[in-house]
Amino acid sequence: METSISRAIVETYHRKLSDCIESDVVVAGAGPSGLVAAARLAAAGKKVTILEKRLAPGGGIWGGAMGMNEVVVQDEALPVLAEAGIRSRACGGGLHVADSAELACGLCLAALRAGAVLLNLTLLEDLCLRGGRVTGVVVNRTRIGDSLPVDPIVLSAAAVVDATGHEAAAVQLLRKRGLLDPACVLQEAPMDAPAGEAFVVERVAEVYPGLWLSGMTVSATFGGPRMGPIFGGMLLSGGRVADLILRRGA
Ligand SMILES: Cc1cc2nc3c(=O)[nH]c(=O)nc-3n(C[C@H](O)[C@H](O)[C@H](O)COP(=O)(O)OP(=O)(O)OC[C@H]3O[C@@H](n4cnc5c(N)ncnc54)[C@H](O)[C@@H]3O)c2cc1C
Repeated sequence: METSISRAIVETYHRKLSDCIESDVVVAGAGPSGLVAAARLAAAGKKVTILEKRLAPGGGIWGGAMGMNEVVVQDEALPVLAEAGIRSRACGGGLHVADSAELACGLCLAALRAGAVLLNLTLLEDLCLRGGRVTGVVVNRTRIGDSLPVDPIVLSAAAVVDATGHEAAAVQLLRKRGLLDPACVLQEAPMDAPAGEAFVVERVAEVYPGLWLSGMTVSATFGGPRMGPIFGGMLLSGGRVADLILRRGA
């Protein structure tokens, strides 16, 4: 029996990994914006691979604010919660509160059920660039890629979304090579919740051909406010990047 269990895991995982070698869209980061983007793209028929360097998907959702596991979203983000079957309670002023564990689990389930594939413990280590555009990602196992001299593998994609939050991992790789537009300041501004919420949605962009931004990566790249403890902007930002990629026809 033990050998059958191991064989089932090894064979299934490697089939899944092999299938991820070519995707329509790679989403780097399984936080709120990345999960919403992945779910919407997969629901529209795109082949989507999500990379998450940590063990568990969910990014910053789990901690709520200061470790209090509640998240607050504004009216505009309610349809995203409803799509994923996540419950919320109105708390006044156009705001709603939801359980952060329910949000993390619900968004993850929605992305997987839509057909996106999640590779956890998988670190975006570099980008593939050819002909002036991003054509895929270079990945390695977390704890291997950042500490041991072990070669990575490559996953190709027509579009890559940097949804790595404050780290802006893919954007930083472009910056190191002098490939970023000078408008990218890579420095978040002080907290301003209303301005920050709008910023992460309105400034969603393709920052380099083939590389898109969503969530806090938008603020980190273009100097938007760090925001307040509001997750609605993250959900709307993920939805917007998916819509723009679909419109572009990746
Ligand atoms: C310093 C700090 C300040 C914050 N300030 C605010 C705030 O003001 N308001 C607020 O609402 N929230 C804040 N948060 C919480 C949180 O970052 C965001 O609100 C929210 O979680 C961002 O959503 P996201 O989808 O953009 O990214 P995240 O939730 O951060 O998810 C990004 C995911 O990408 C993964 N990742 C990162 N690098 C890689 C890589 N190289 N390869 C693969 N995966 C990778 C991470 O493990 C993570 O799971 C803050 C967090 C920090 C650490």
